Amino acid sequence: MSEQWLERYANAVMGTYGTPQRVLVRGEGCYVWDADGRRYLDLLAGIATNLLGHAHPALVDAVGSQLSTMGHVSNFFASPVQVELAERLVALLHGGGGARVFFCNSGAEANEAAFKIARRTGRSRVVAAEGGFHGRTMGALSLTHKPAIREPFVPLVPGVDHVPFGDVAALEAAVDETTAAVILEPVQGEAGVRPAPDGYLAAARRLTSDAGALLVLDEVQTGIGRTGAWFAHQLPGLGLDGSLPDVVTLAKGLGGGIPVGAAVALTEPAATLLGAGAHGTTFGGNPVAAAAALATLDAVEHHDLIAAAVDVGALLRQGIEALGHPLVTGVRGAGLLLAVQLAEPVAAKTAHEALDAGFIVNPVAPDAVRLAPPLVLSADQAREFTAALPGILDVATPPGGTQ
Ligand SMILES: *Cc1c(COP(=O)(O)O)cnc(C)c1O
Repeated sequence: MSEQWLERYANAVMGTYGTPQRVLVRGEGCYVWDADGRRYLDLLAGIATNLLGHAHPALVDAVGSQLSTMGHVSNFFASPVQVELAERLVALLHGGGGARVFFCNSGAEANEAAFKIARRTGRSRVVAAEGGFHGRTMGALSLTHKPAIREPFVPLVPGVDHVPFGDVAALEAAVDETTAAVILEPVQGEAGVRPAPDGYLAAARRLTSDAGALLVLDEVQTGIGRTGAWFAHQLPGLGLDGSLPDVVTLAKGLGGGIPVGAAVALTEPAATLLGAGAHGTTFGGNPVAAAAALATLDAVEHHDLIAAAVDVGALLRQGIEALGHPLVTGVRGAGLLLAVQLAEPVAAKTAHEALDAGFIVNPVAPDAVRLAPPLVLSADQAREFTAALPGILDVATPPGGTQ
């Protein structure tokens, strides 16, 4: 079955992602099934997206009942769910009465909105970080650092400088009165799950405030409980010493698997820089997407999934470290956004072996395997993976062993 689908895929779907590893047909909780009936424990959750796993009844109900009540209305009209979601996000981000939300459909679009907010300051320079990933549309790609994905598309939007991530002195040297904004991920996801050093984001807040520049935090991957707090910048060490970022961008986990993104402007003037007619998207604030996001936020709260991300994340981390496997040099990350660091560049092989053993993981870097499971992953499911991991790592170990 899978083989036939993959052949049709190759002949119909643009080849931007290479050959898919499996054809998935069904999911329930933290498990998915492929077209040949094989079951996998999903430790990637659609790239840090399906916070509630697959087919969660609360999400299914919310989407179904919203769609049967009112599906799409465009931005010429408001809907109660959109308003409720905006209020909810502002409250979770500790924003005040001046905060405002722009809704969109993806992480790239959330960062496009933040980019346009930055431009409306009247300044045109933006500082981003080496290793930073902010999406693939032309504006977001200009903020993204990775040369391999930027270079085929130059010239990009001018005025973006990349500085070494985590280096306060480099940031200080780059930020001045011509800087519109600094954009950072609290934990760089695509660069291999690399948390900012303690105090870095607080320093970024101080430097941007002093220069009159905006601080944009890209929490597309880290937001909504993933790292063991509602937002990663609310974790100790990644905090802003009681200050707020000017803009927080969200997507991935926000809708629990339904496409929805948001740029939340928490301060003035960021919250008012995009006035009537300045920006827009047809689906932004779509009631079904908003209902999915509200249901996701409700479930995270109701089932204490942030505490679960802390506990099960610690269990996974400790379980992997306790294996003492020679191929594993450590585990980094926060909550349920983790990377298993390998002594050799065999992450792709490890992920391949894991898949054969019934586990979906992601080779996020040549020597790092990302785990970003649903926040509903149980302790037993975490142990199921750590019990299987030595066998997977043994097969992935290069013939000569680790050096
Ligand atoms: C995934 C991601 C994006 C891009 O989101 P898309 O929905 O794929 O456009 C942006 N920023 C970060 C930090 C991400 O992890």
